[in-house]
Amino acid sequence: QIENSVFVPDESGMVQLGKLIARSTAGGEVIFLNGDLGMGKTTLSRGVLQGFGHQGSVKSPTYTLVEPYEFDERSVFHFDLYRLGDPEELEYLGIRDYFTDEGICLIEWPERGEGVLPVADLQLNISVEQRGRRITWQPQTEKGRCLADKLNG
Ligand code: ADP
Ligand code: MG
Repeated sequence: QIENSVFVPDESGMVQLGKLIARSTAGGEVIFLNGDLGMGKTTLSRGVLQGFGHQGSVKSPTYTLVEPYEFDERSVFHFDLYRLGDPEELEYLGIRDYFTDEGICLIEWPERGEGVLPVADLQLNISVEQRGRRITWQPQTEKGRCLADKLNG
């Protein structure tokens, strides 16, 4: 499997990458955002949301676990599972309703939901490089490969 990667020097570059991800989706993608605290997962999510037309800030749904956004053409569900105690709690959230053909799920701290979350279409990892970030992504499904092809191309 090919692994793809890009260096993003600053916050505005991160938002631009998010917008590119938004433009590259077909609907229904599940994207895991892996990386430590402060890596830029929420910044990247803000870029994706802005790519769909969201204006203004994006709060981490640290206590609510998920924040839904409705756009004309699709929904985006932004998860932050940092404070999730037990993956089973996701069942109480009615998590299955979020994973549809249309909605796009952006999931920070997906490892906390292991066993309950579906397979990611795209695994995305963020790490520090110099003063910026190295973002790498790997598709895990056909839908993820379509997305990765567009990101590369
Ligand atoms: P996370 O959600 O992973 O905890 P945030 O999105 O809250 O991280 O971002 C943490 C900090 O990293 C912010 O101050 C943001 O401006 C900064 N940041 C985001 N992307 C980059 C980047 N590509 N290069 C340098 N700093 C970045
Ligand atoms: Mg965050």
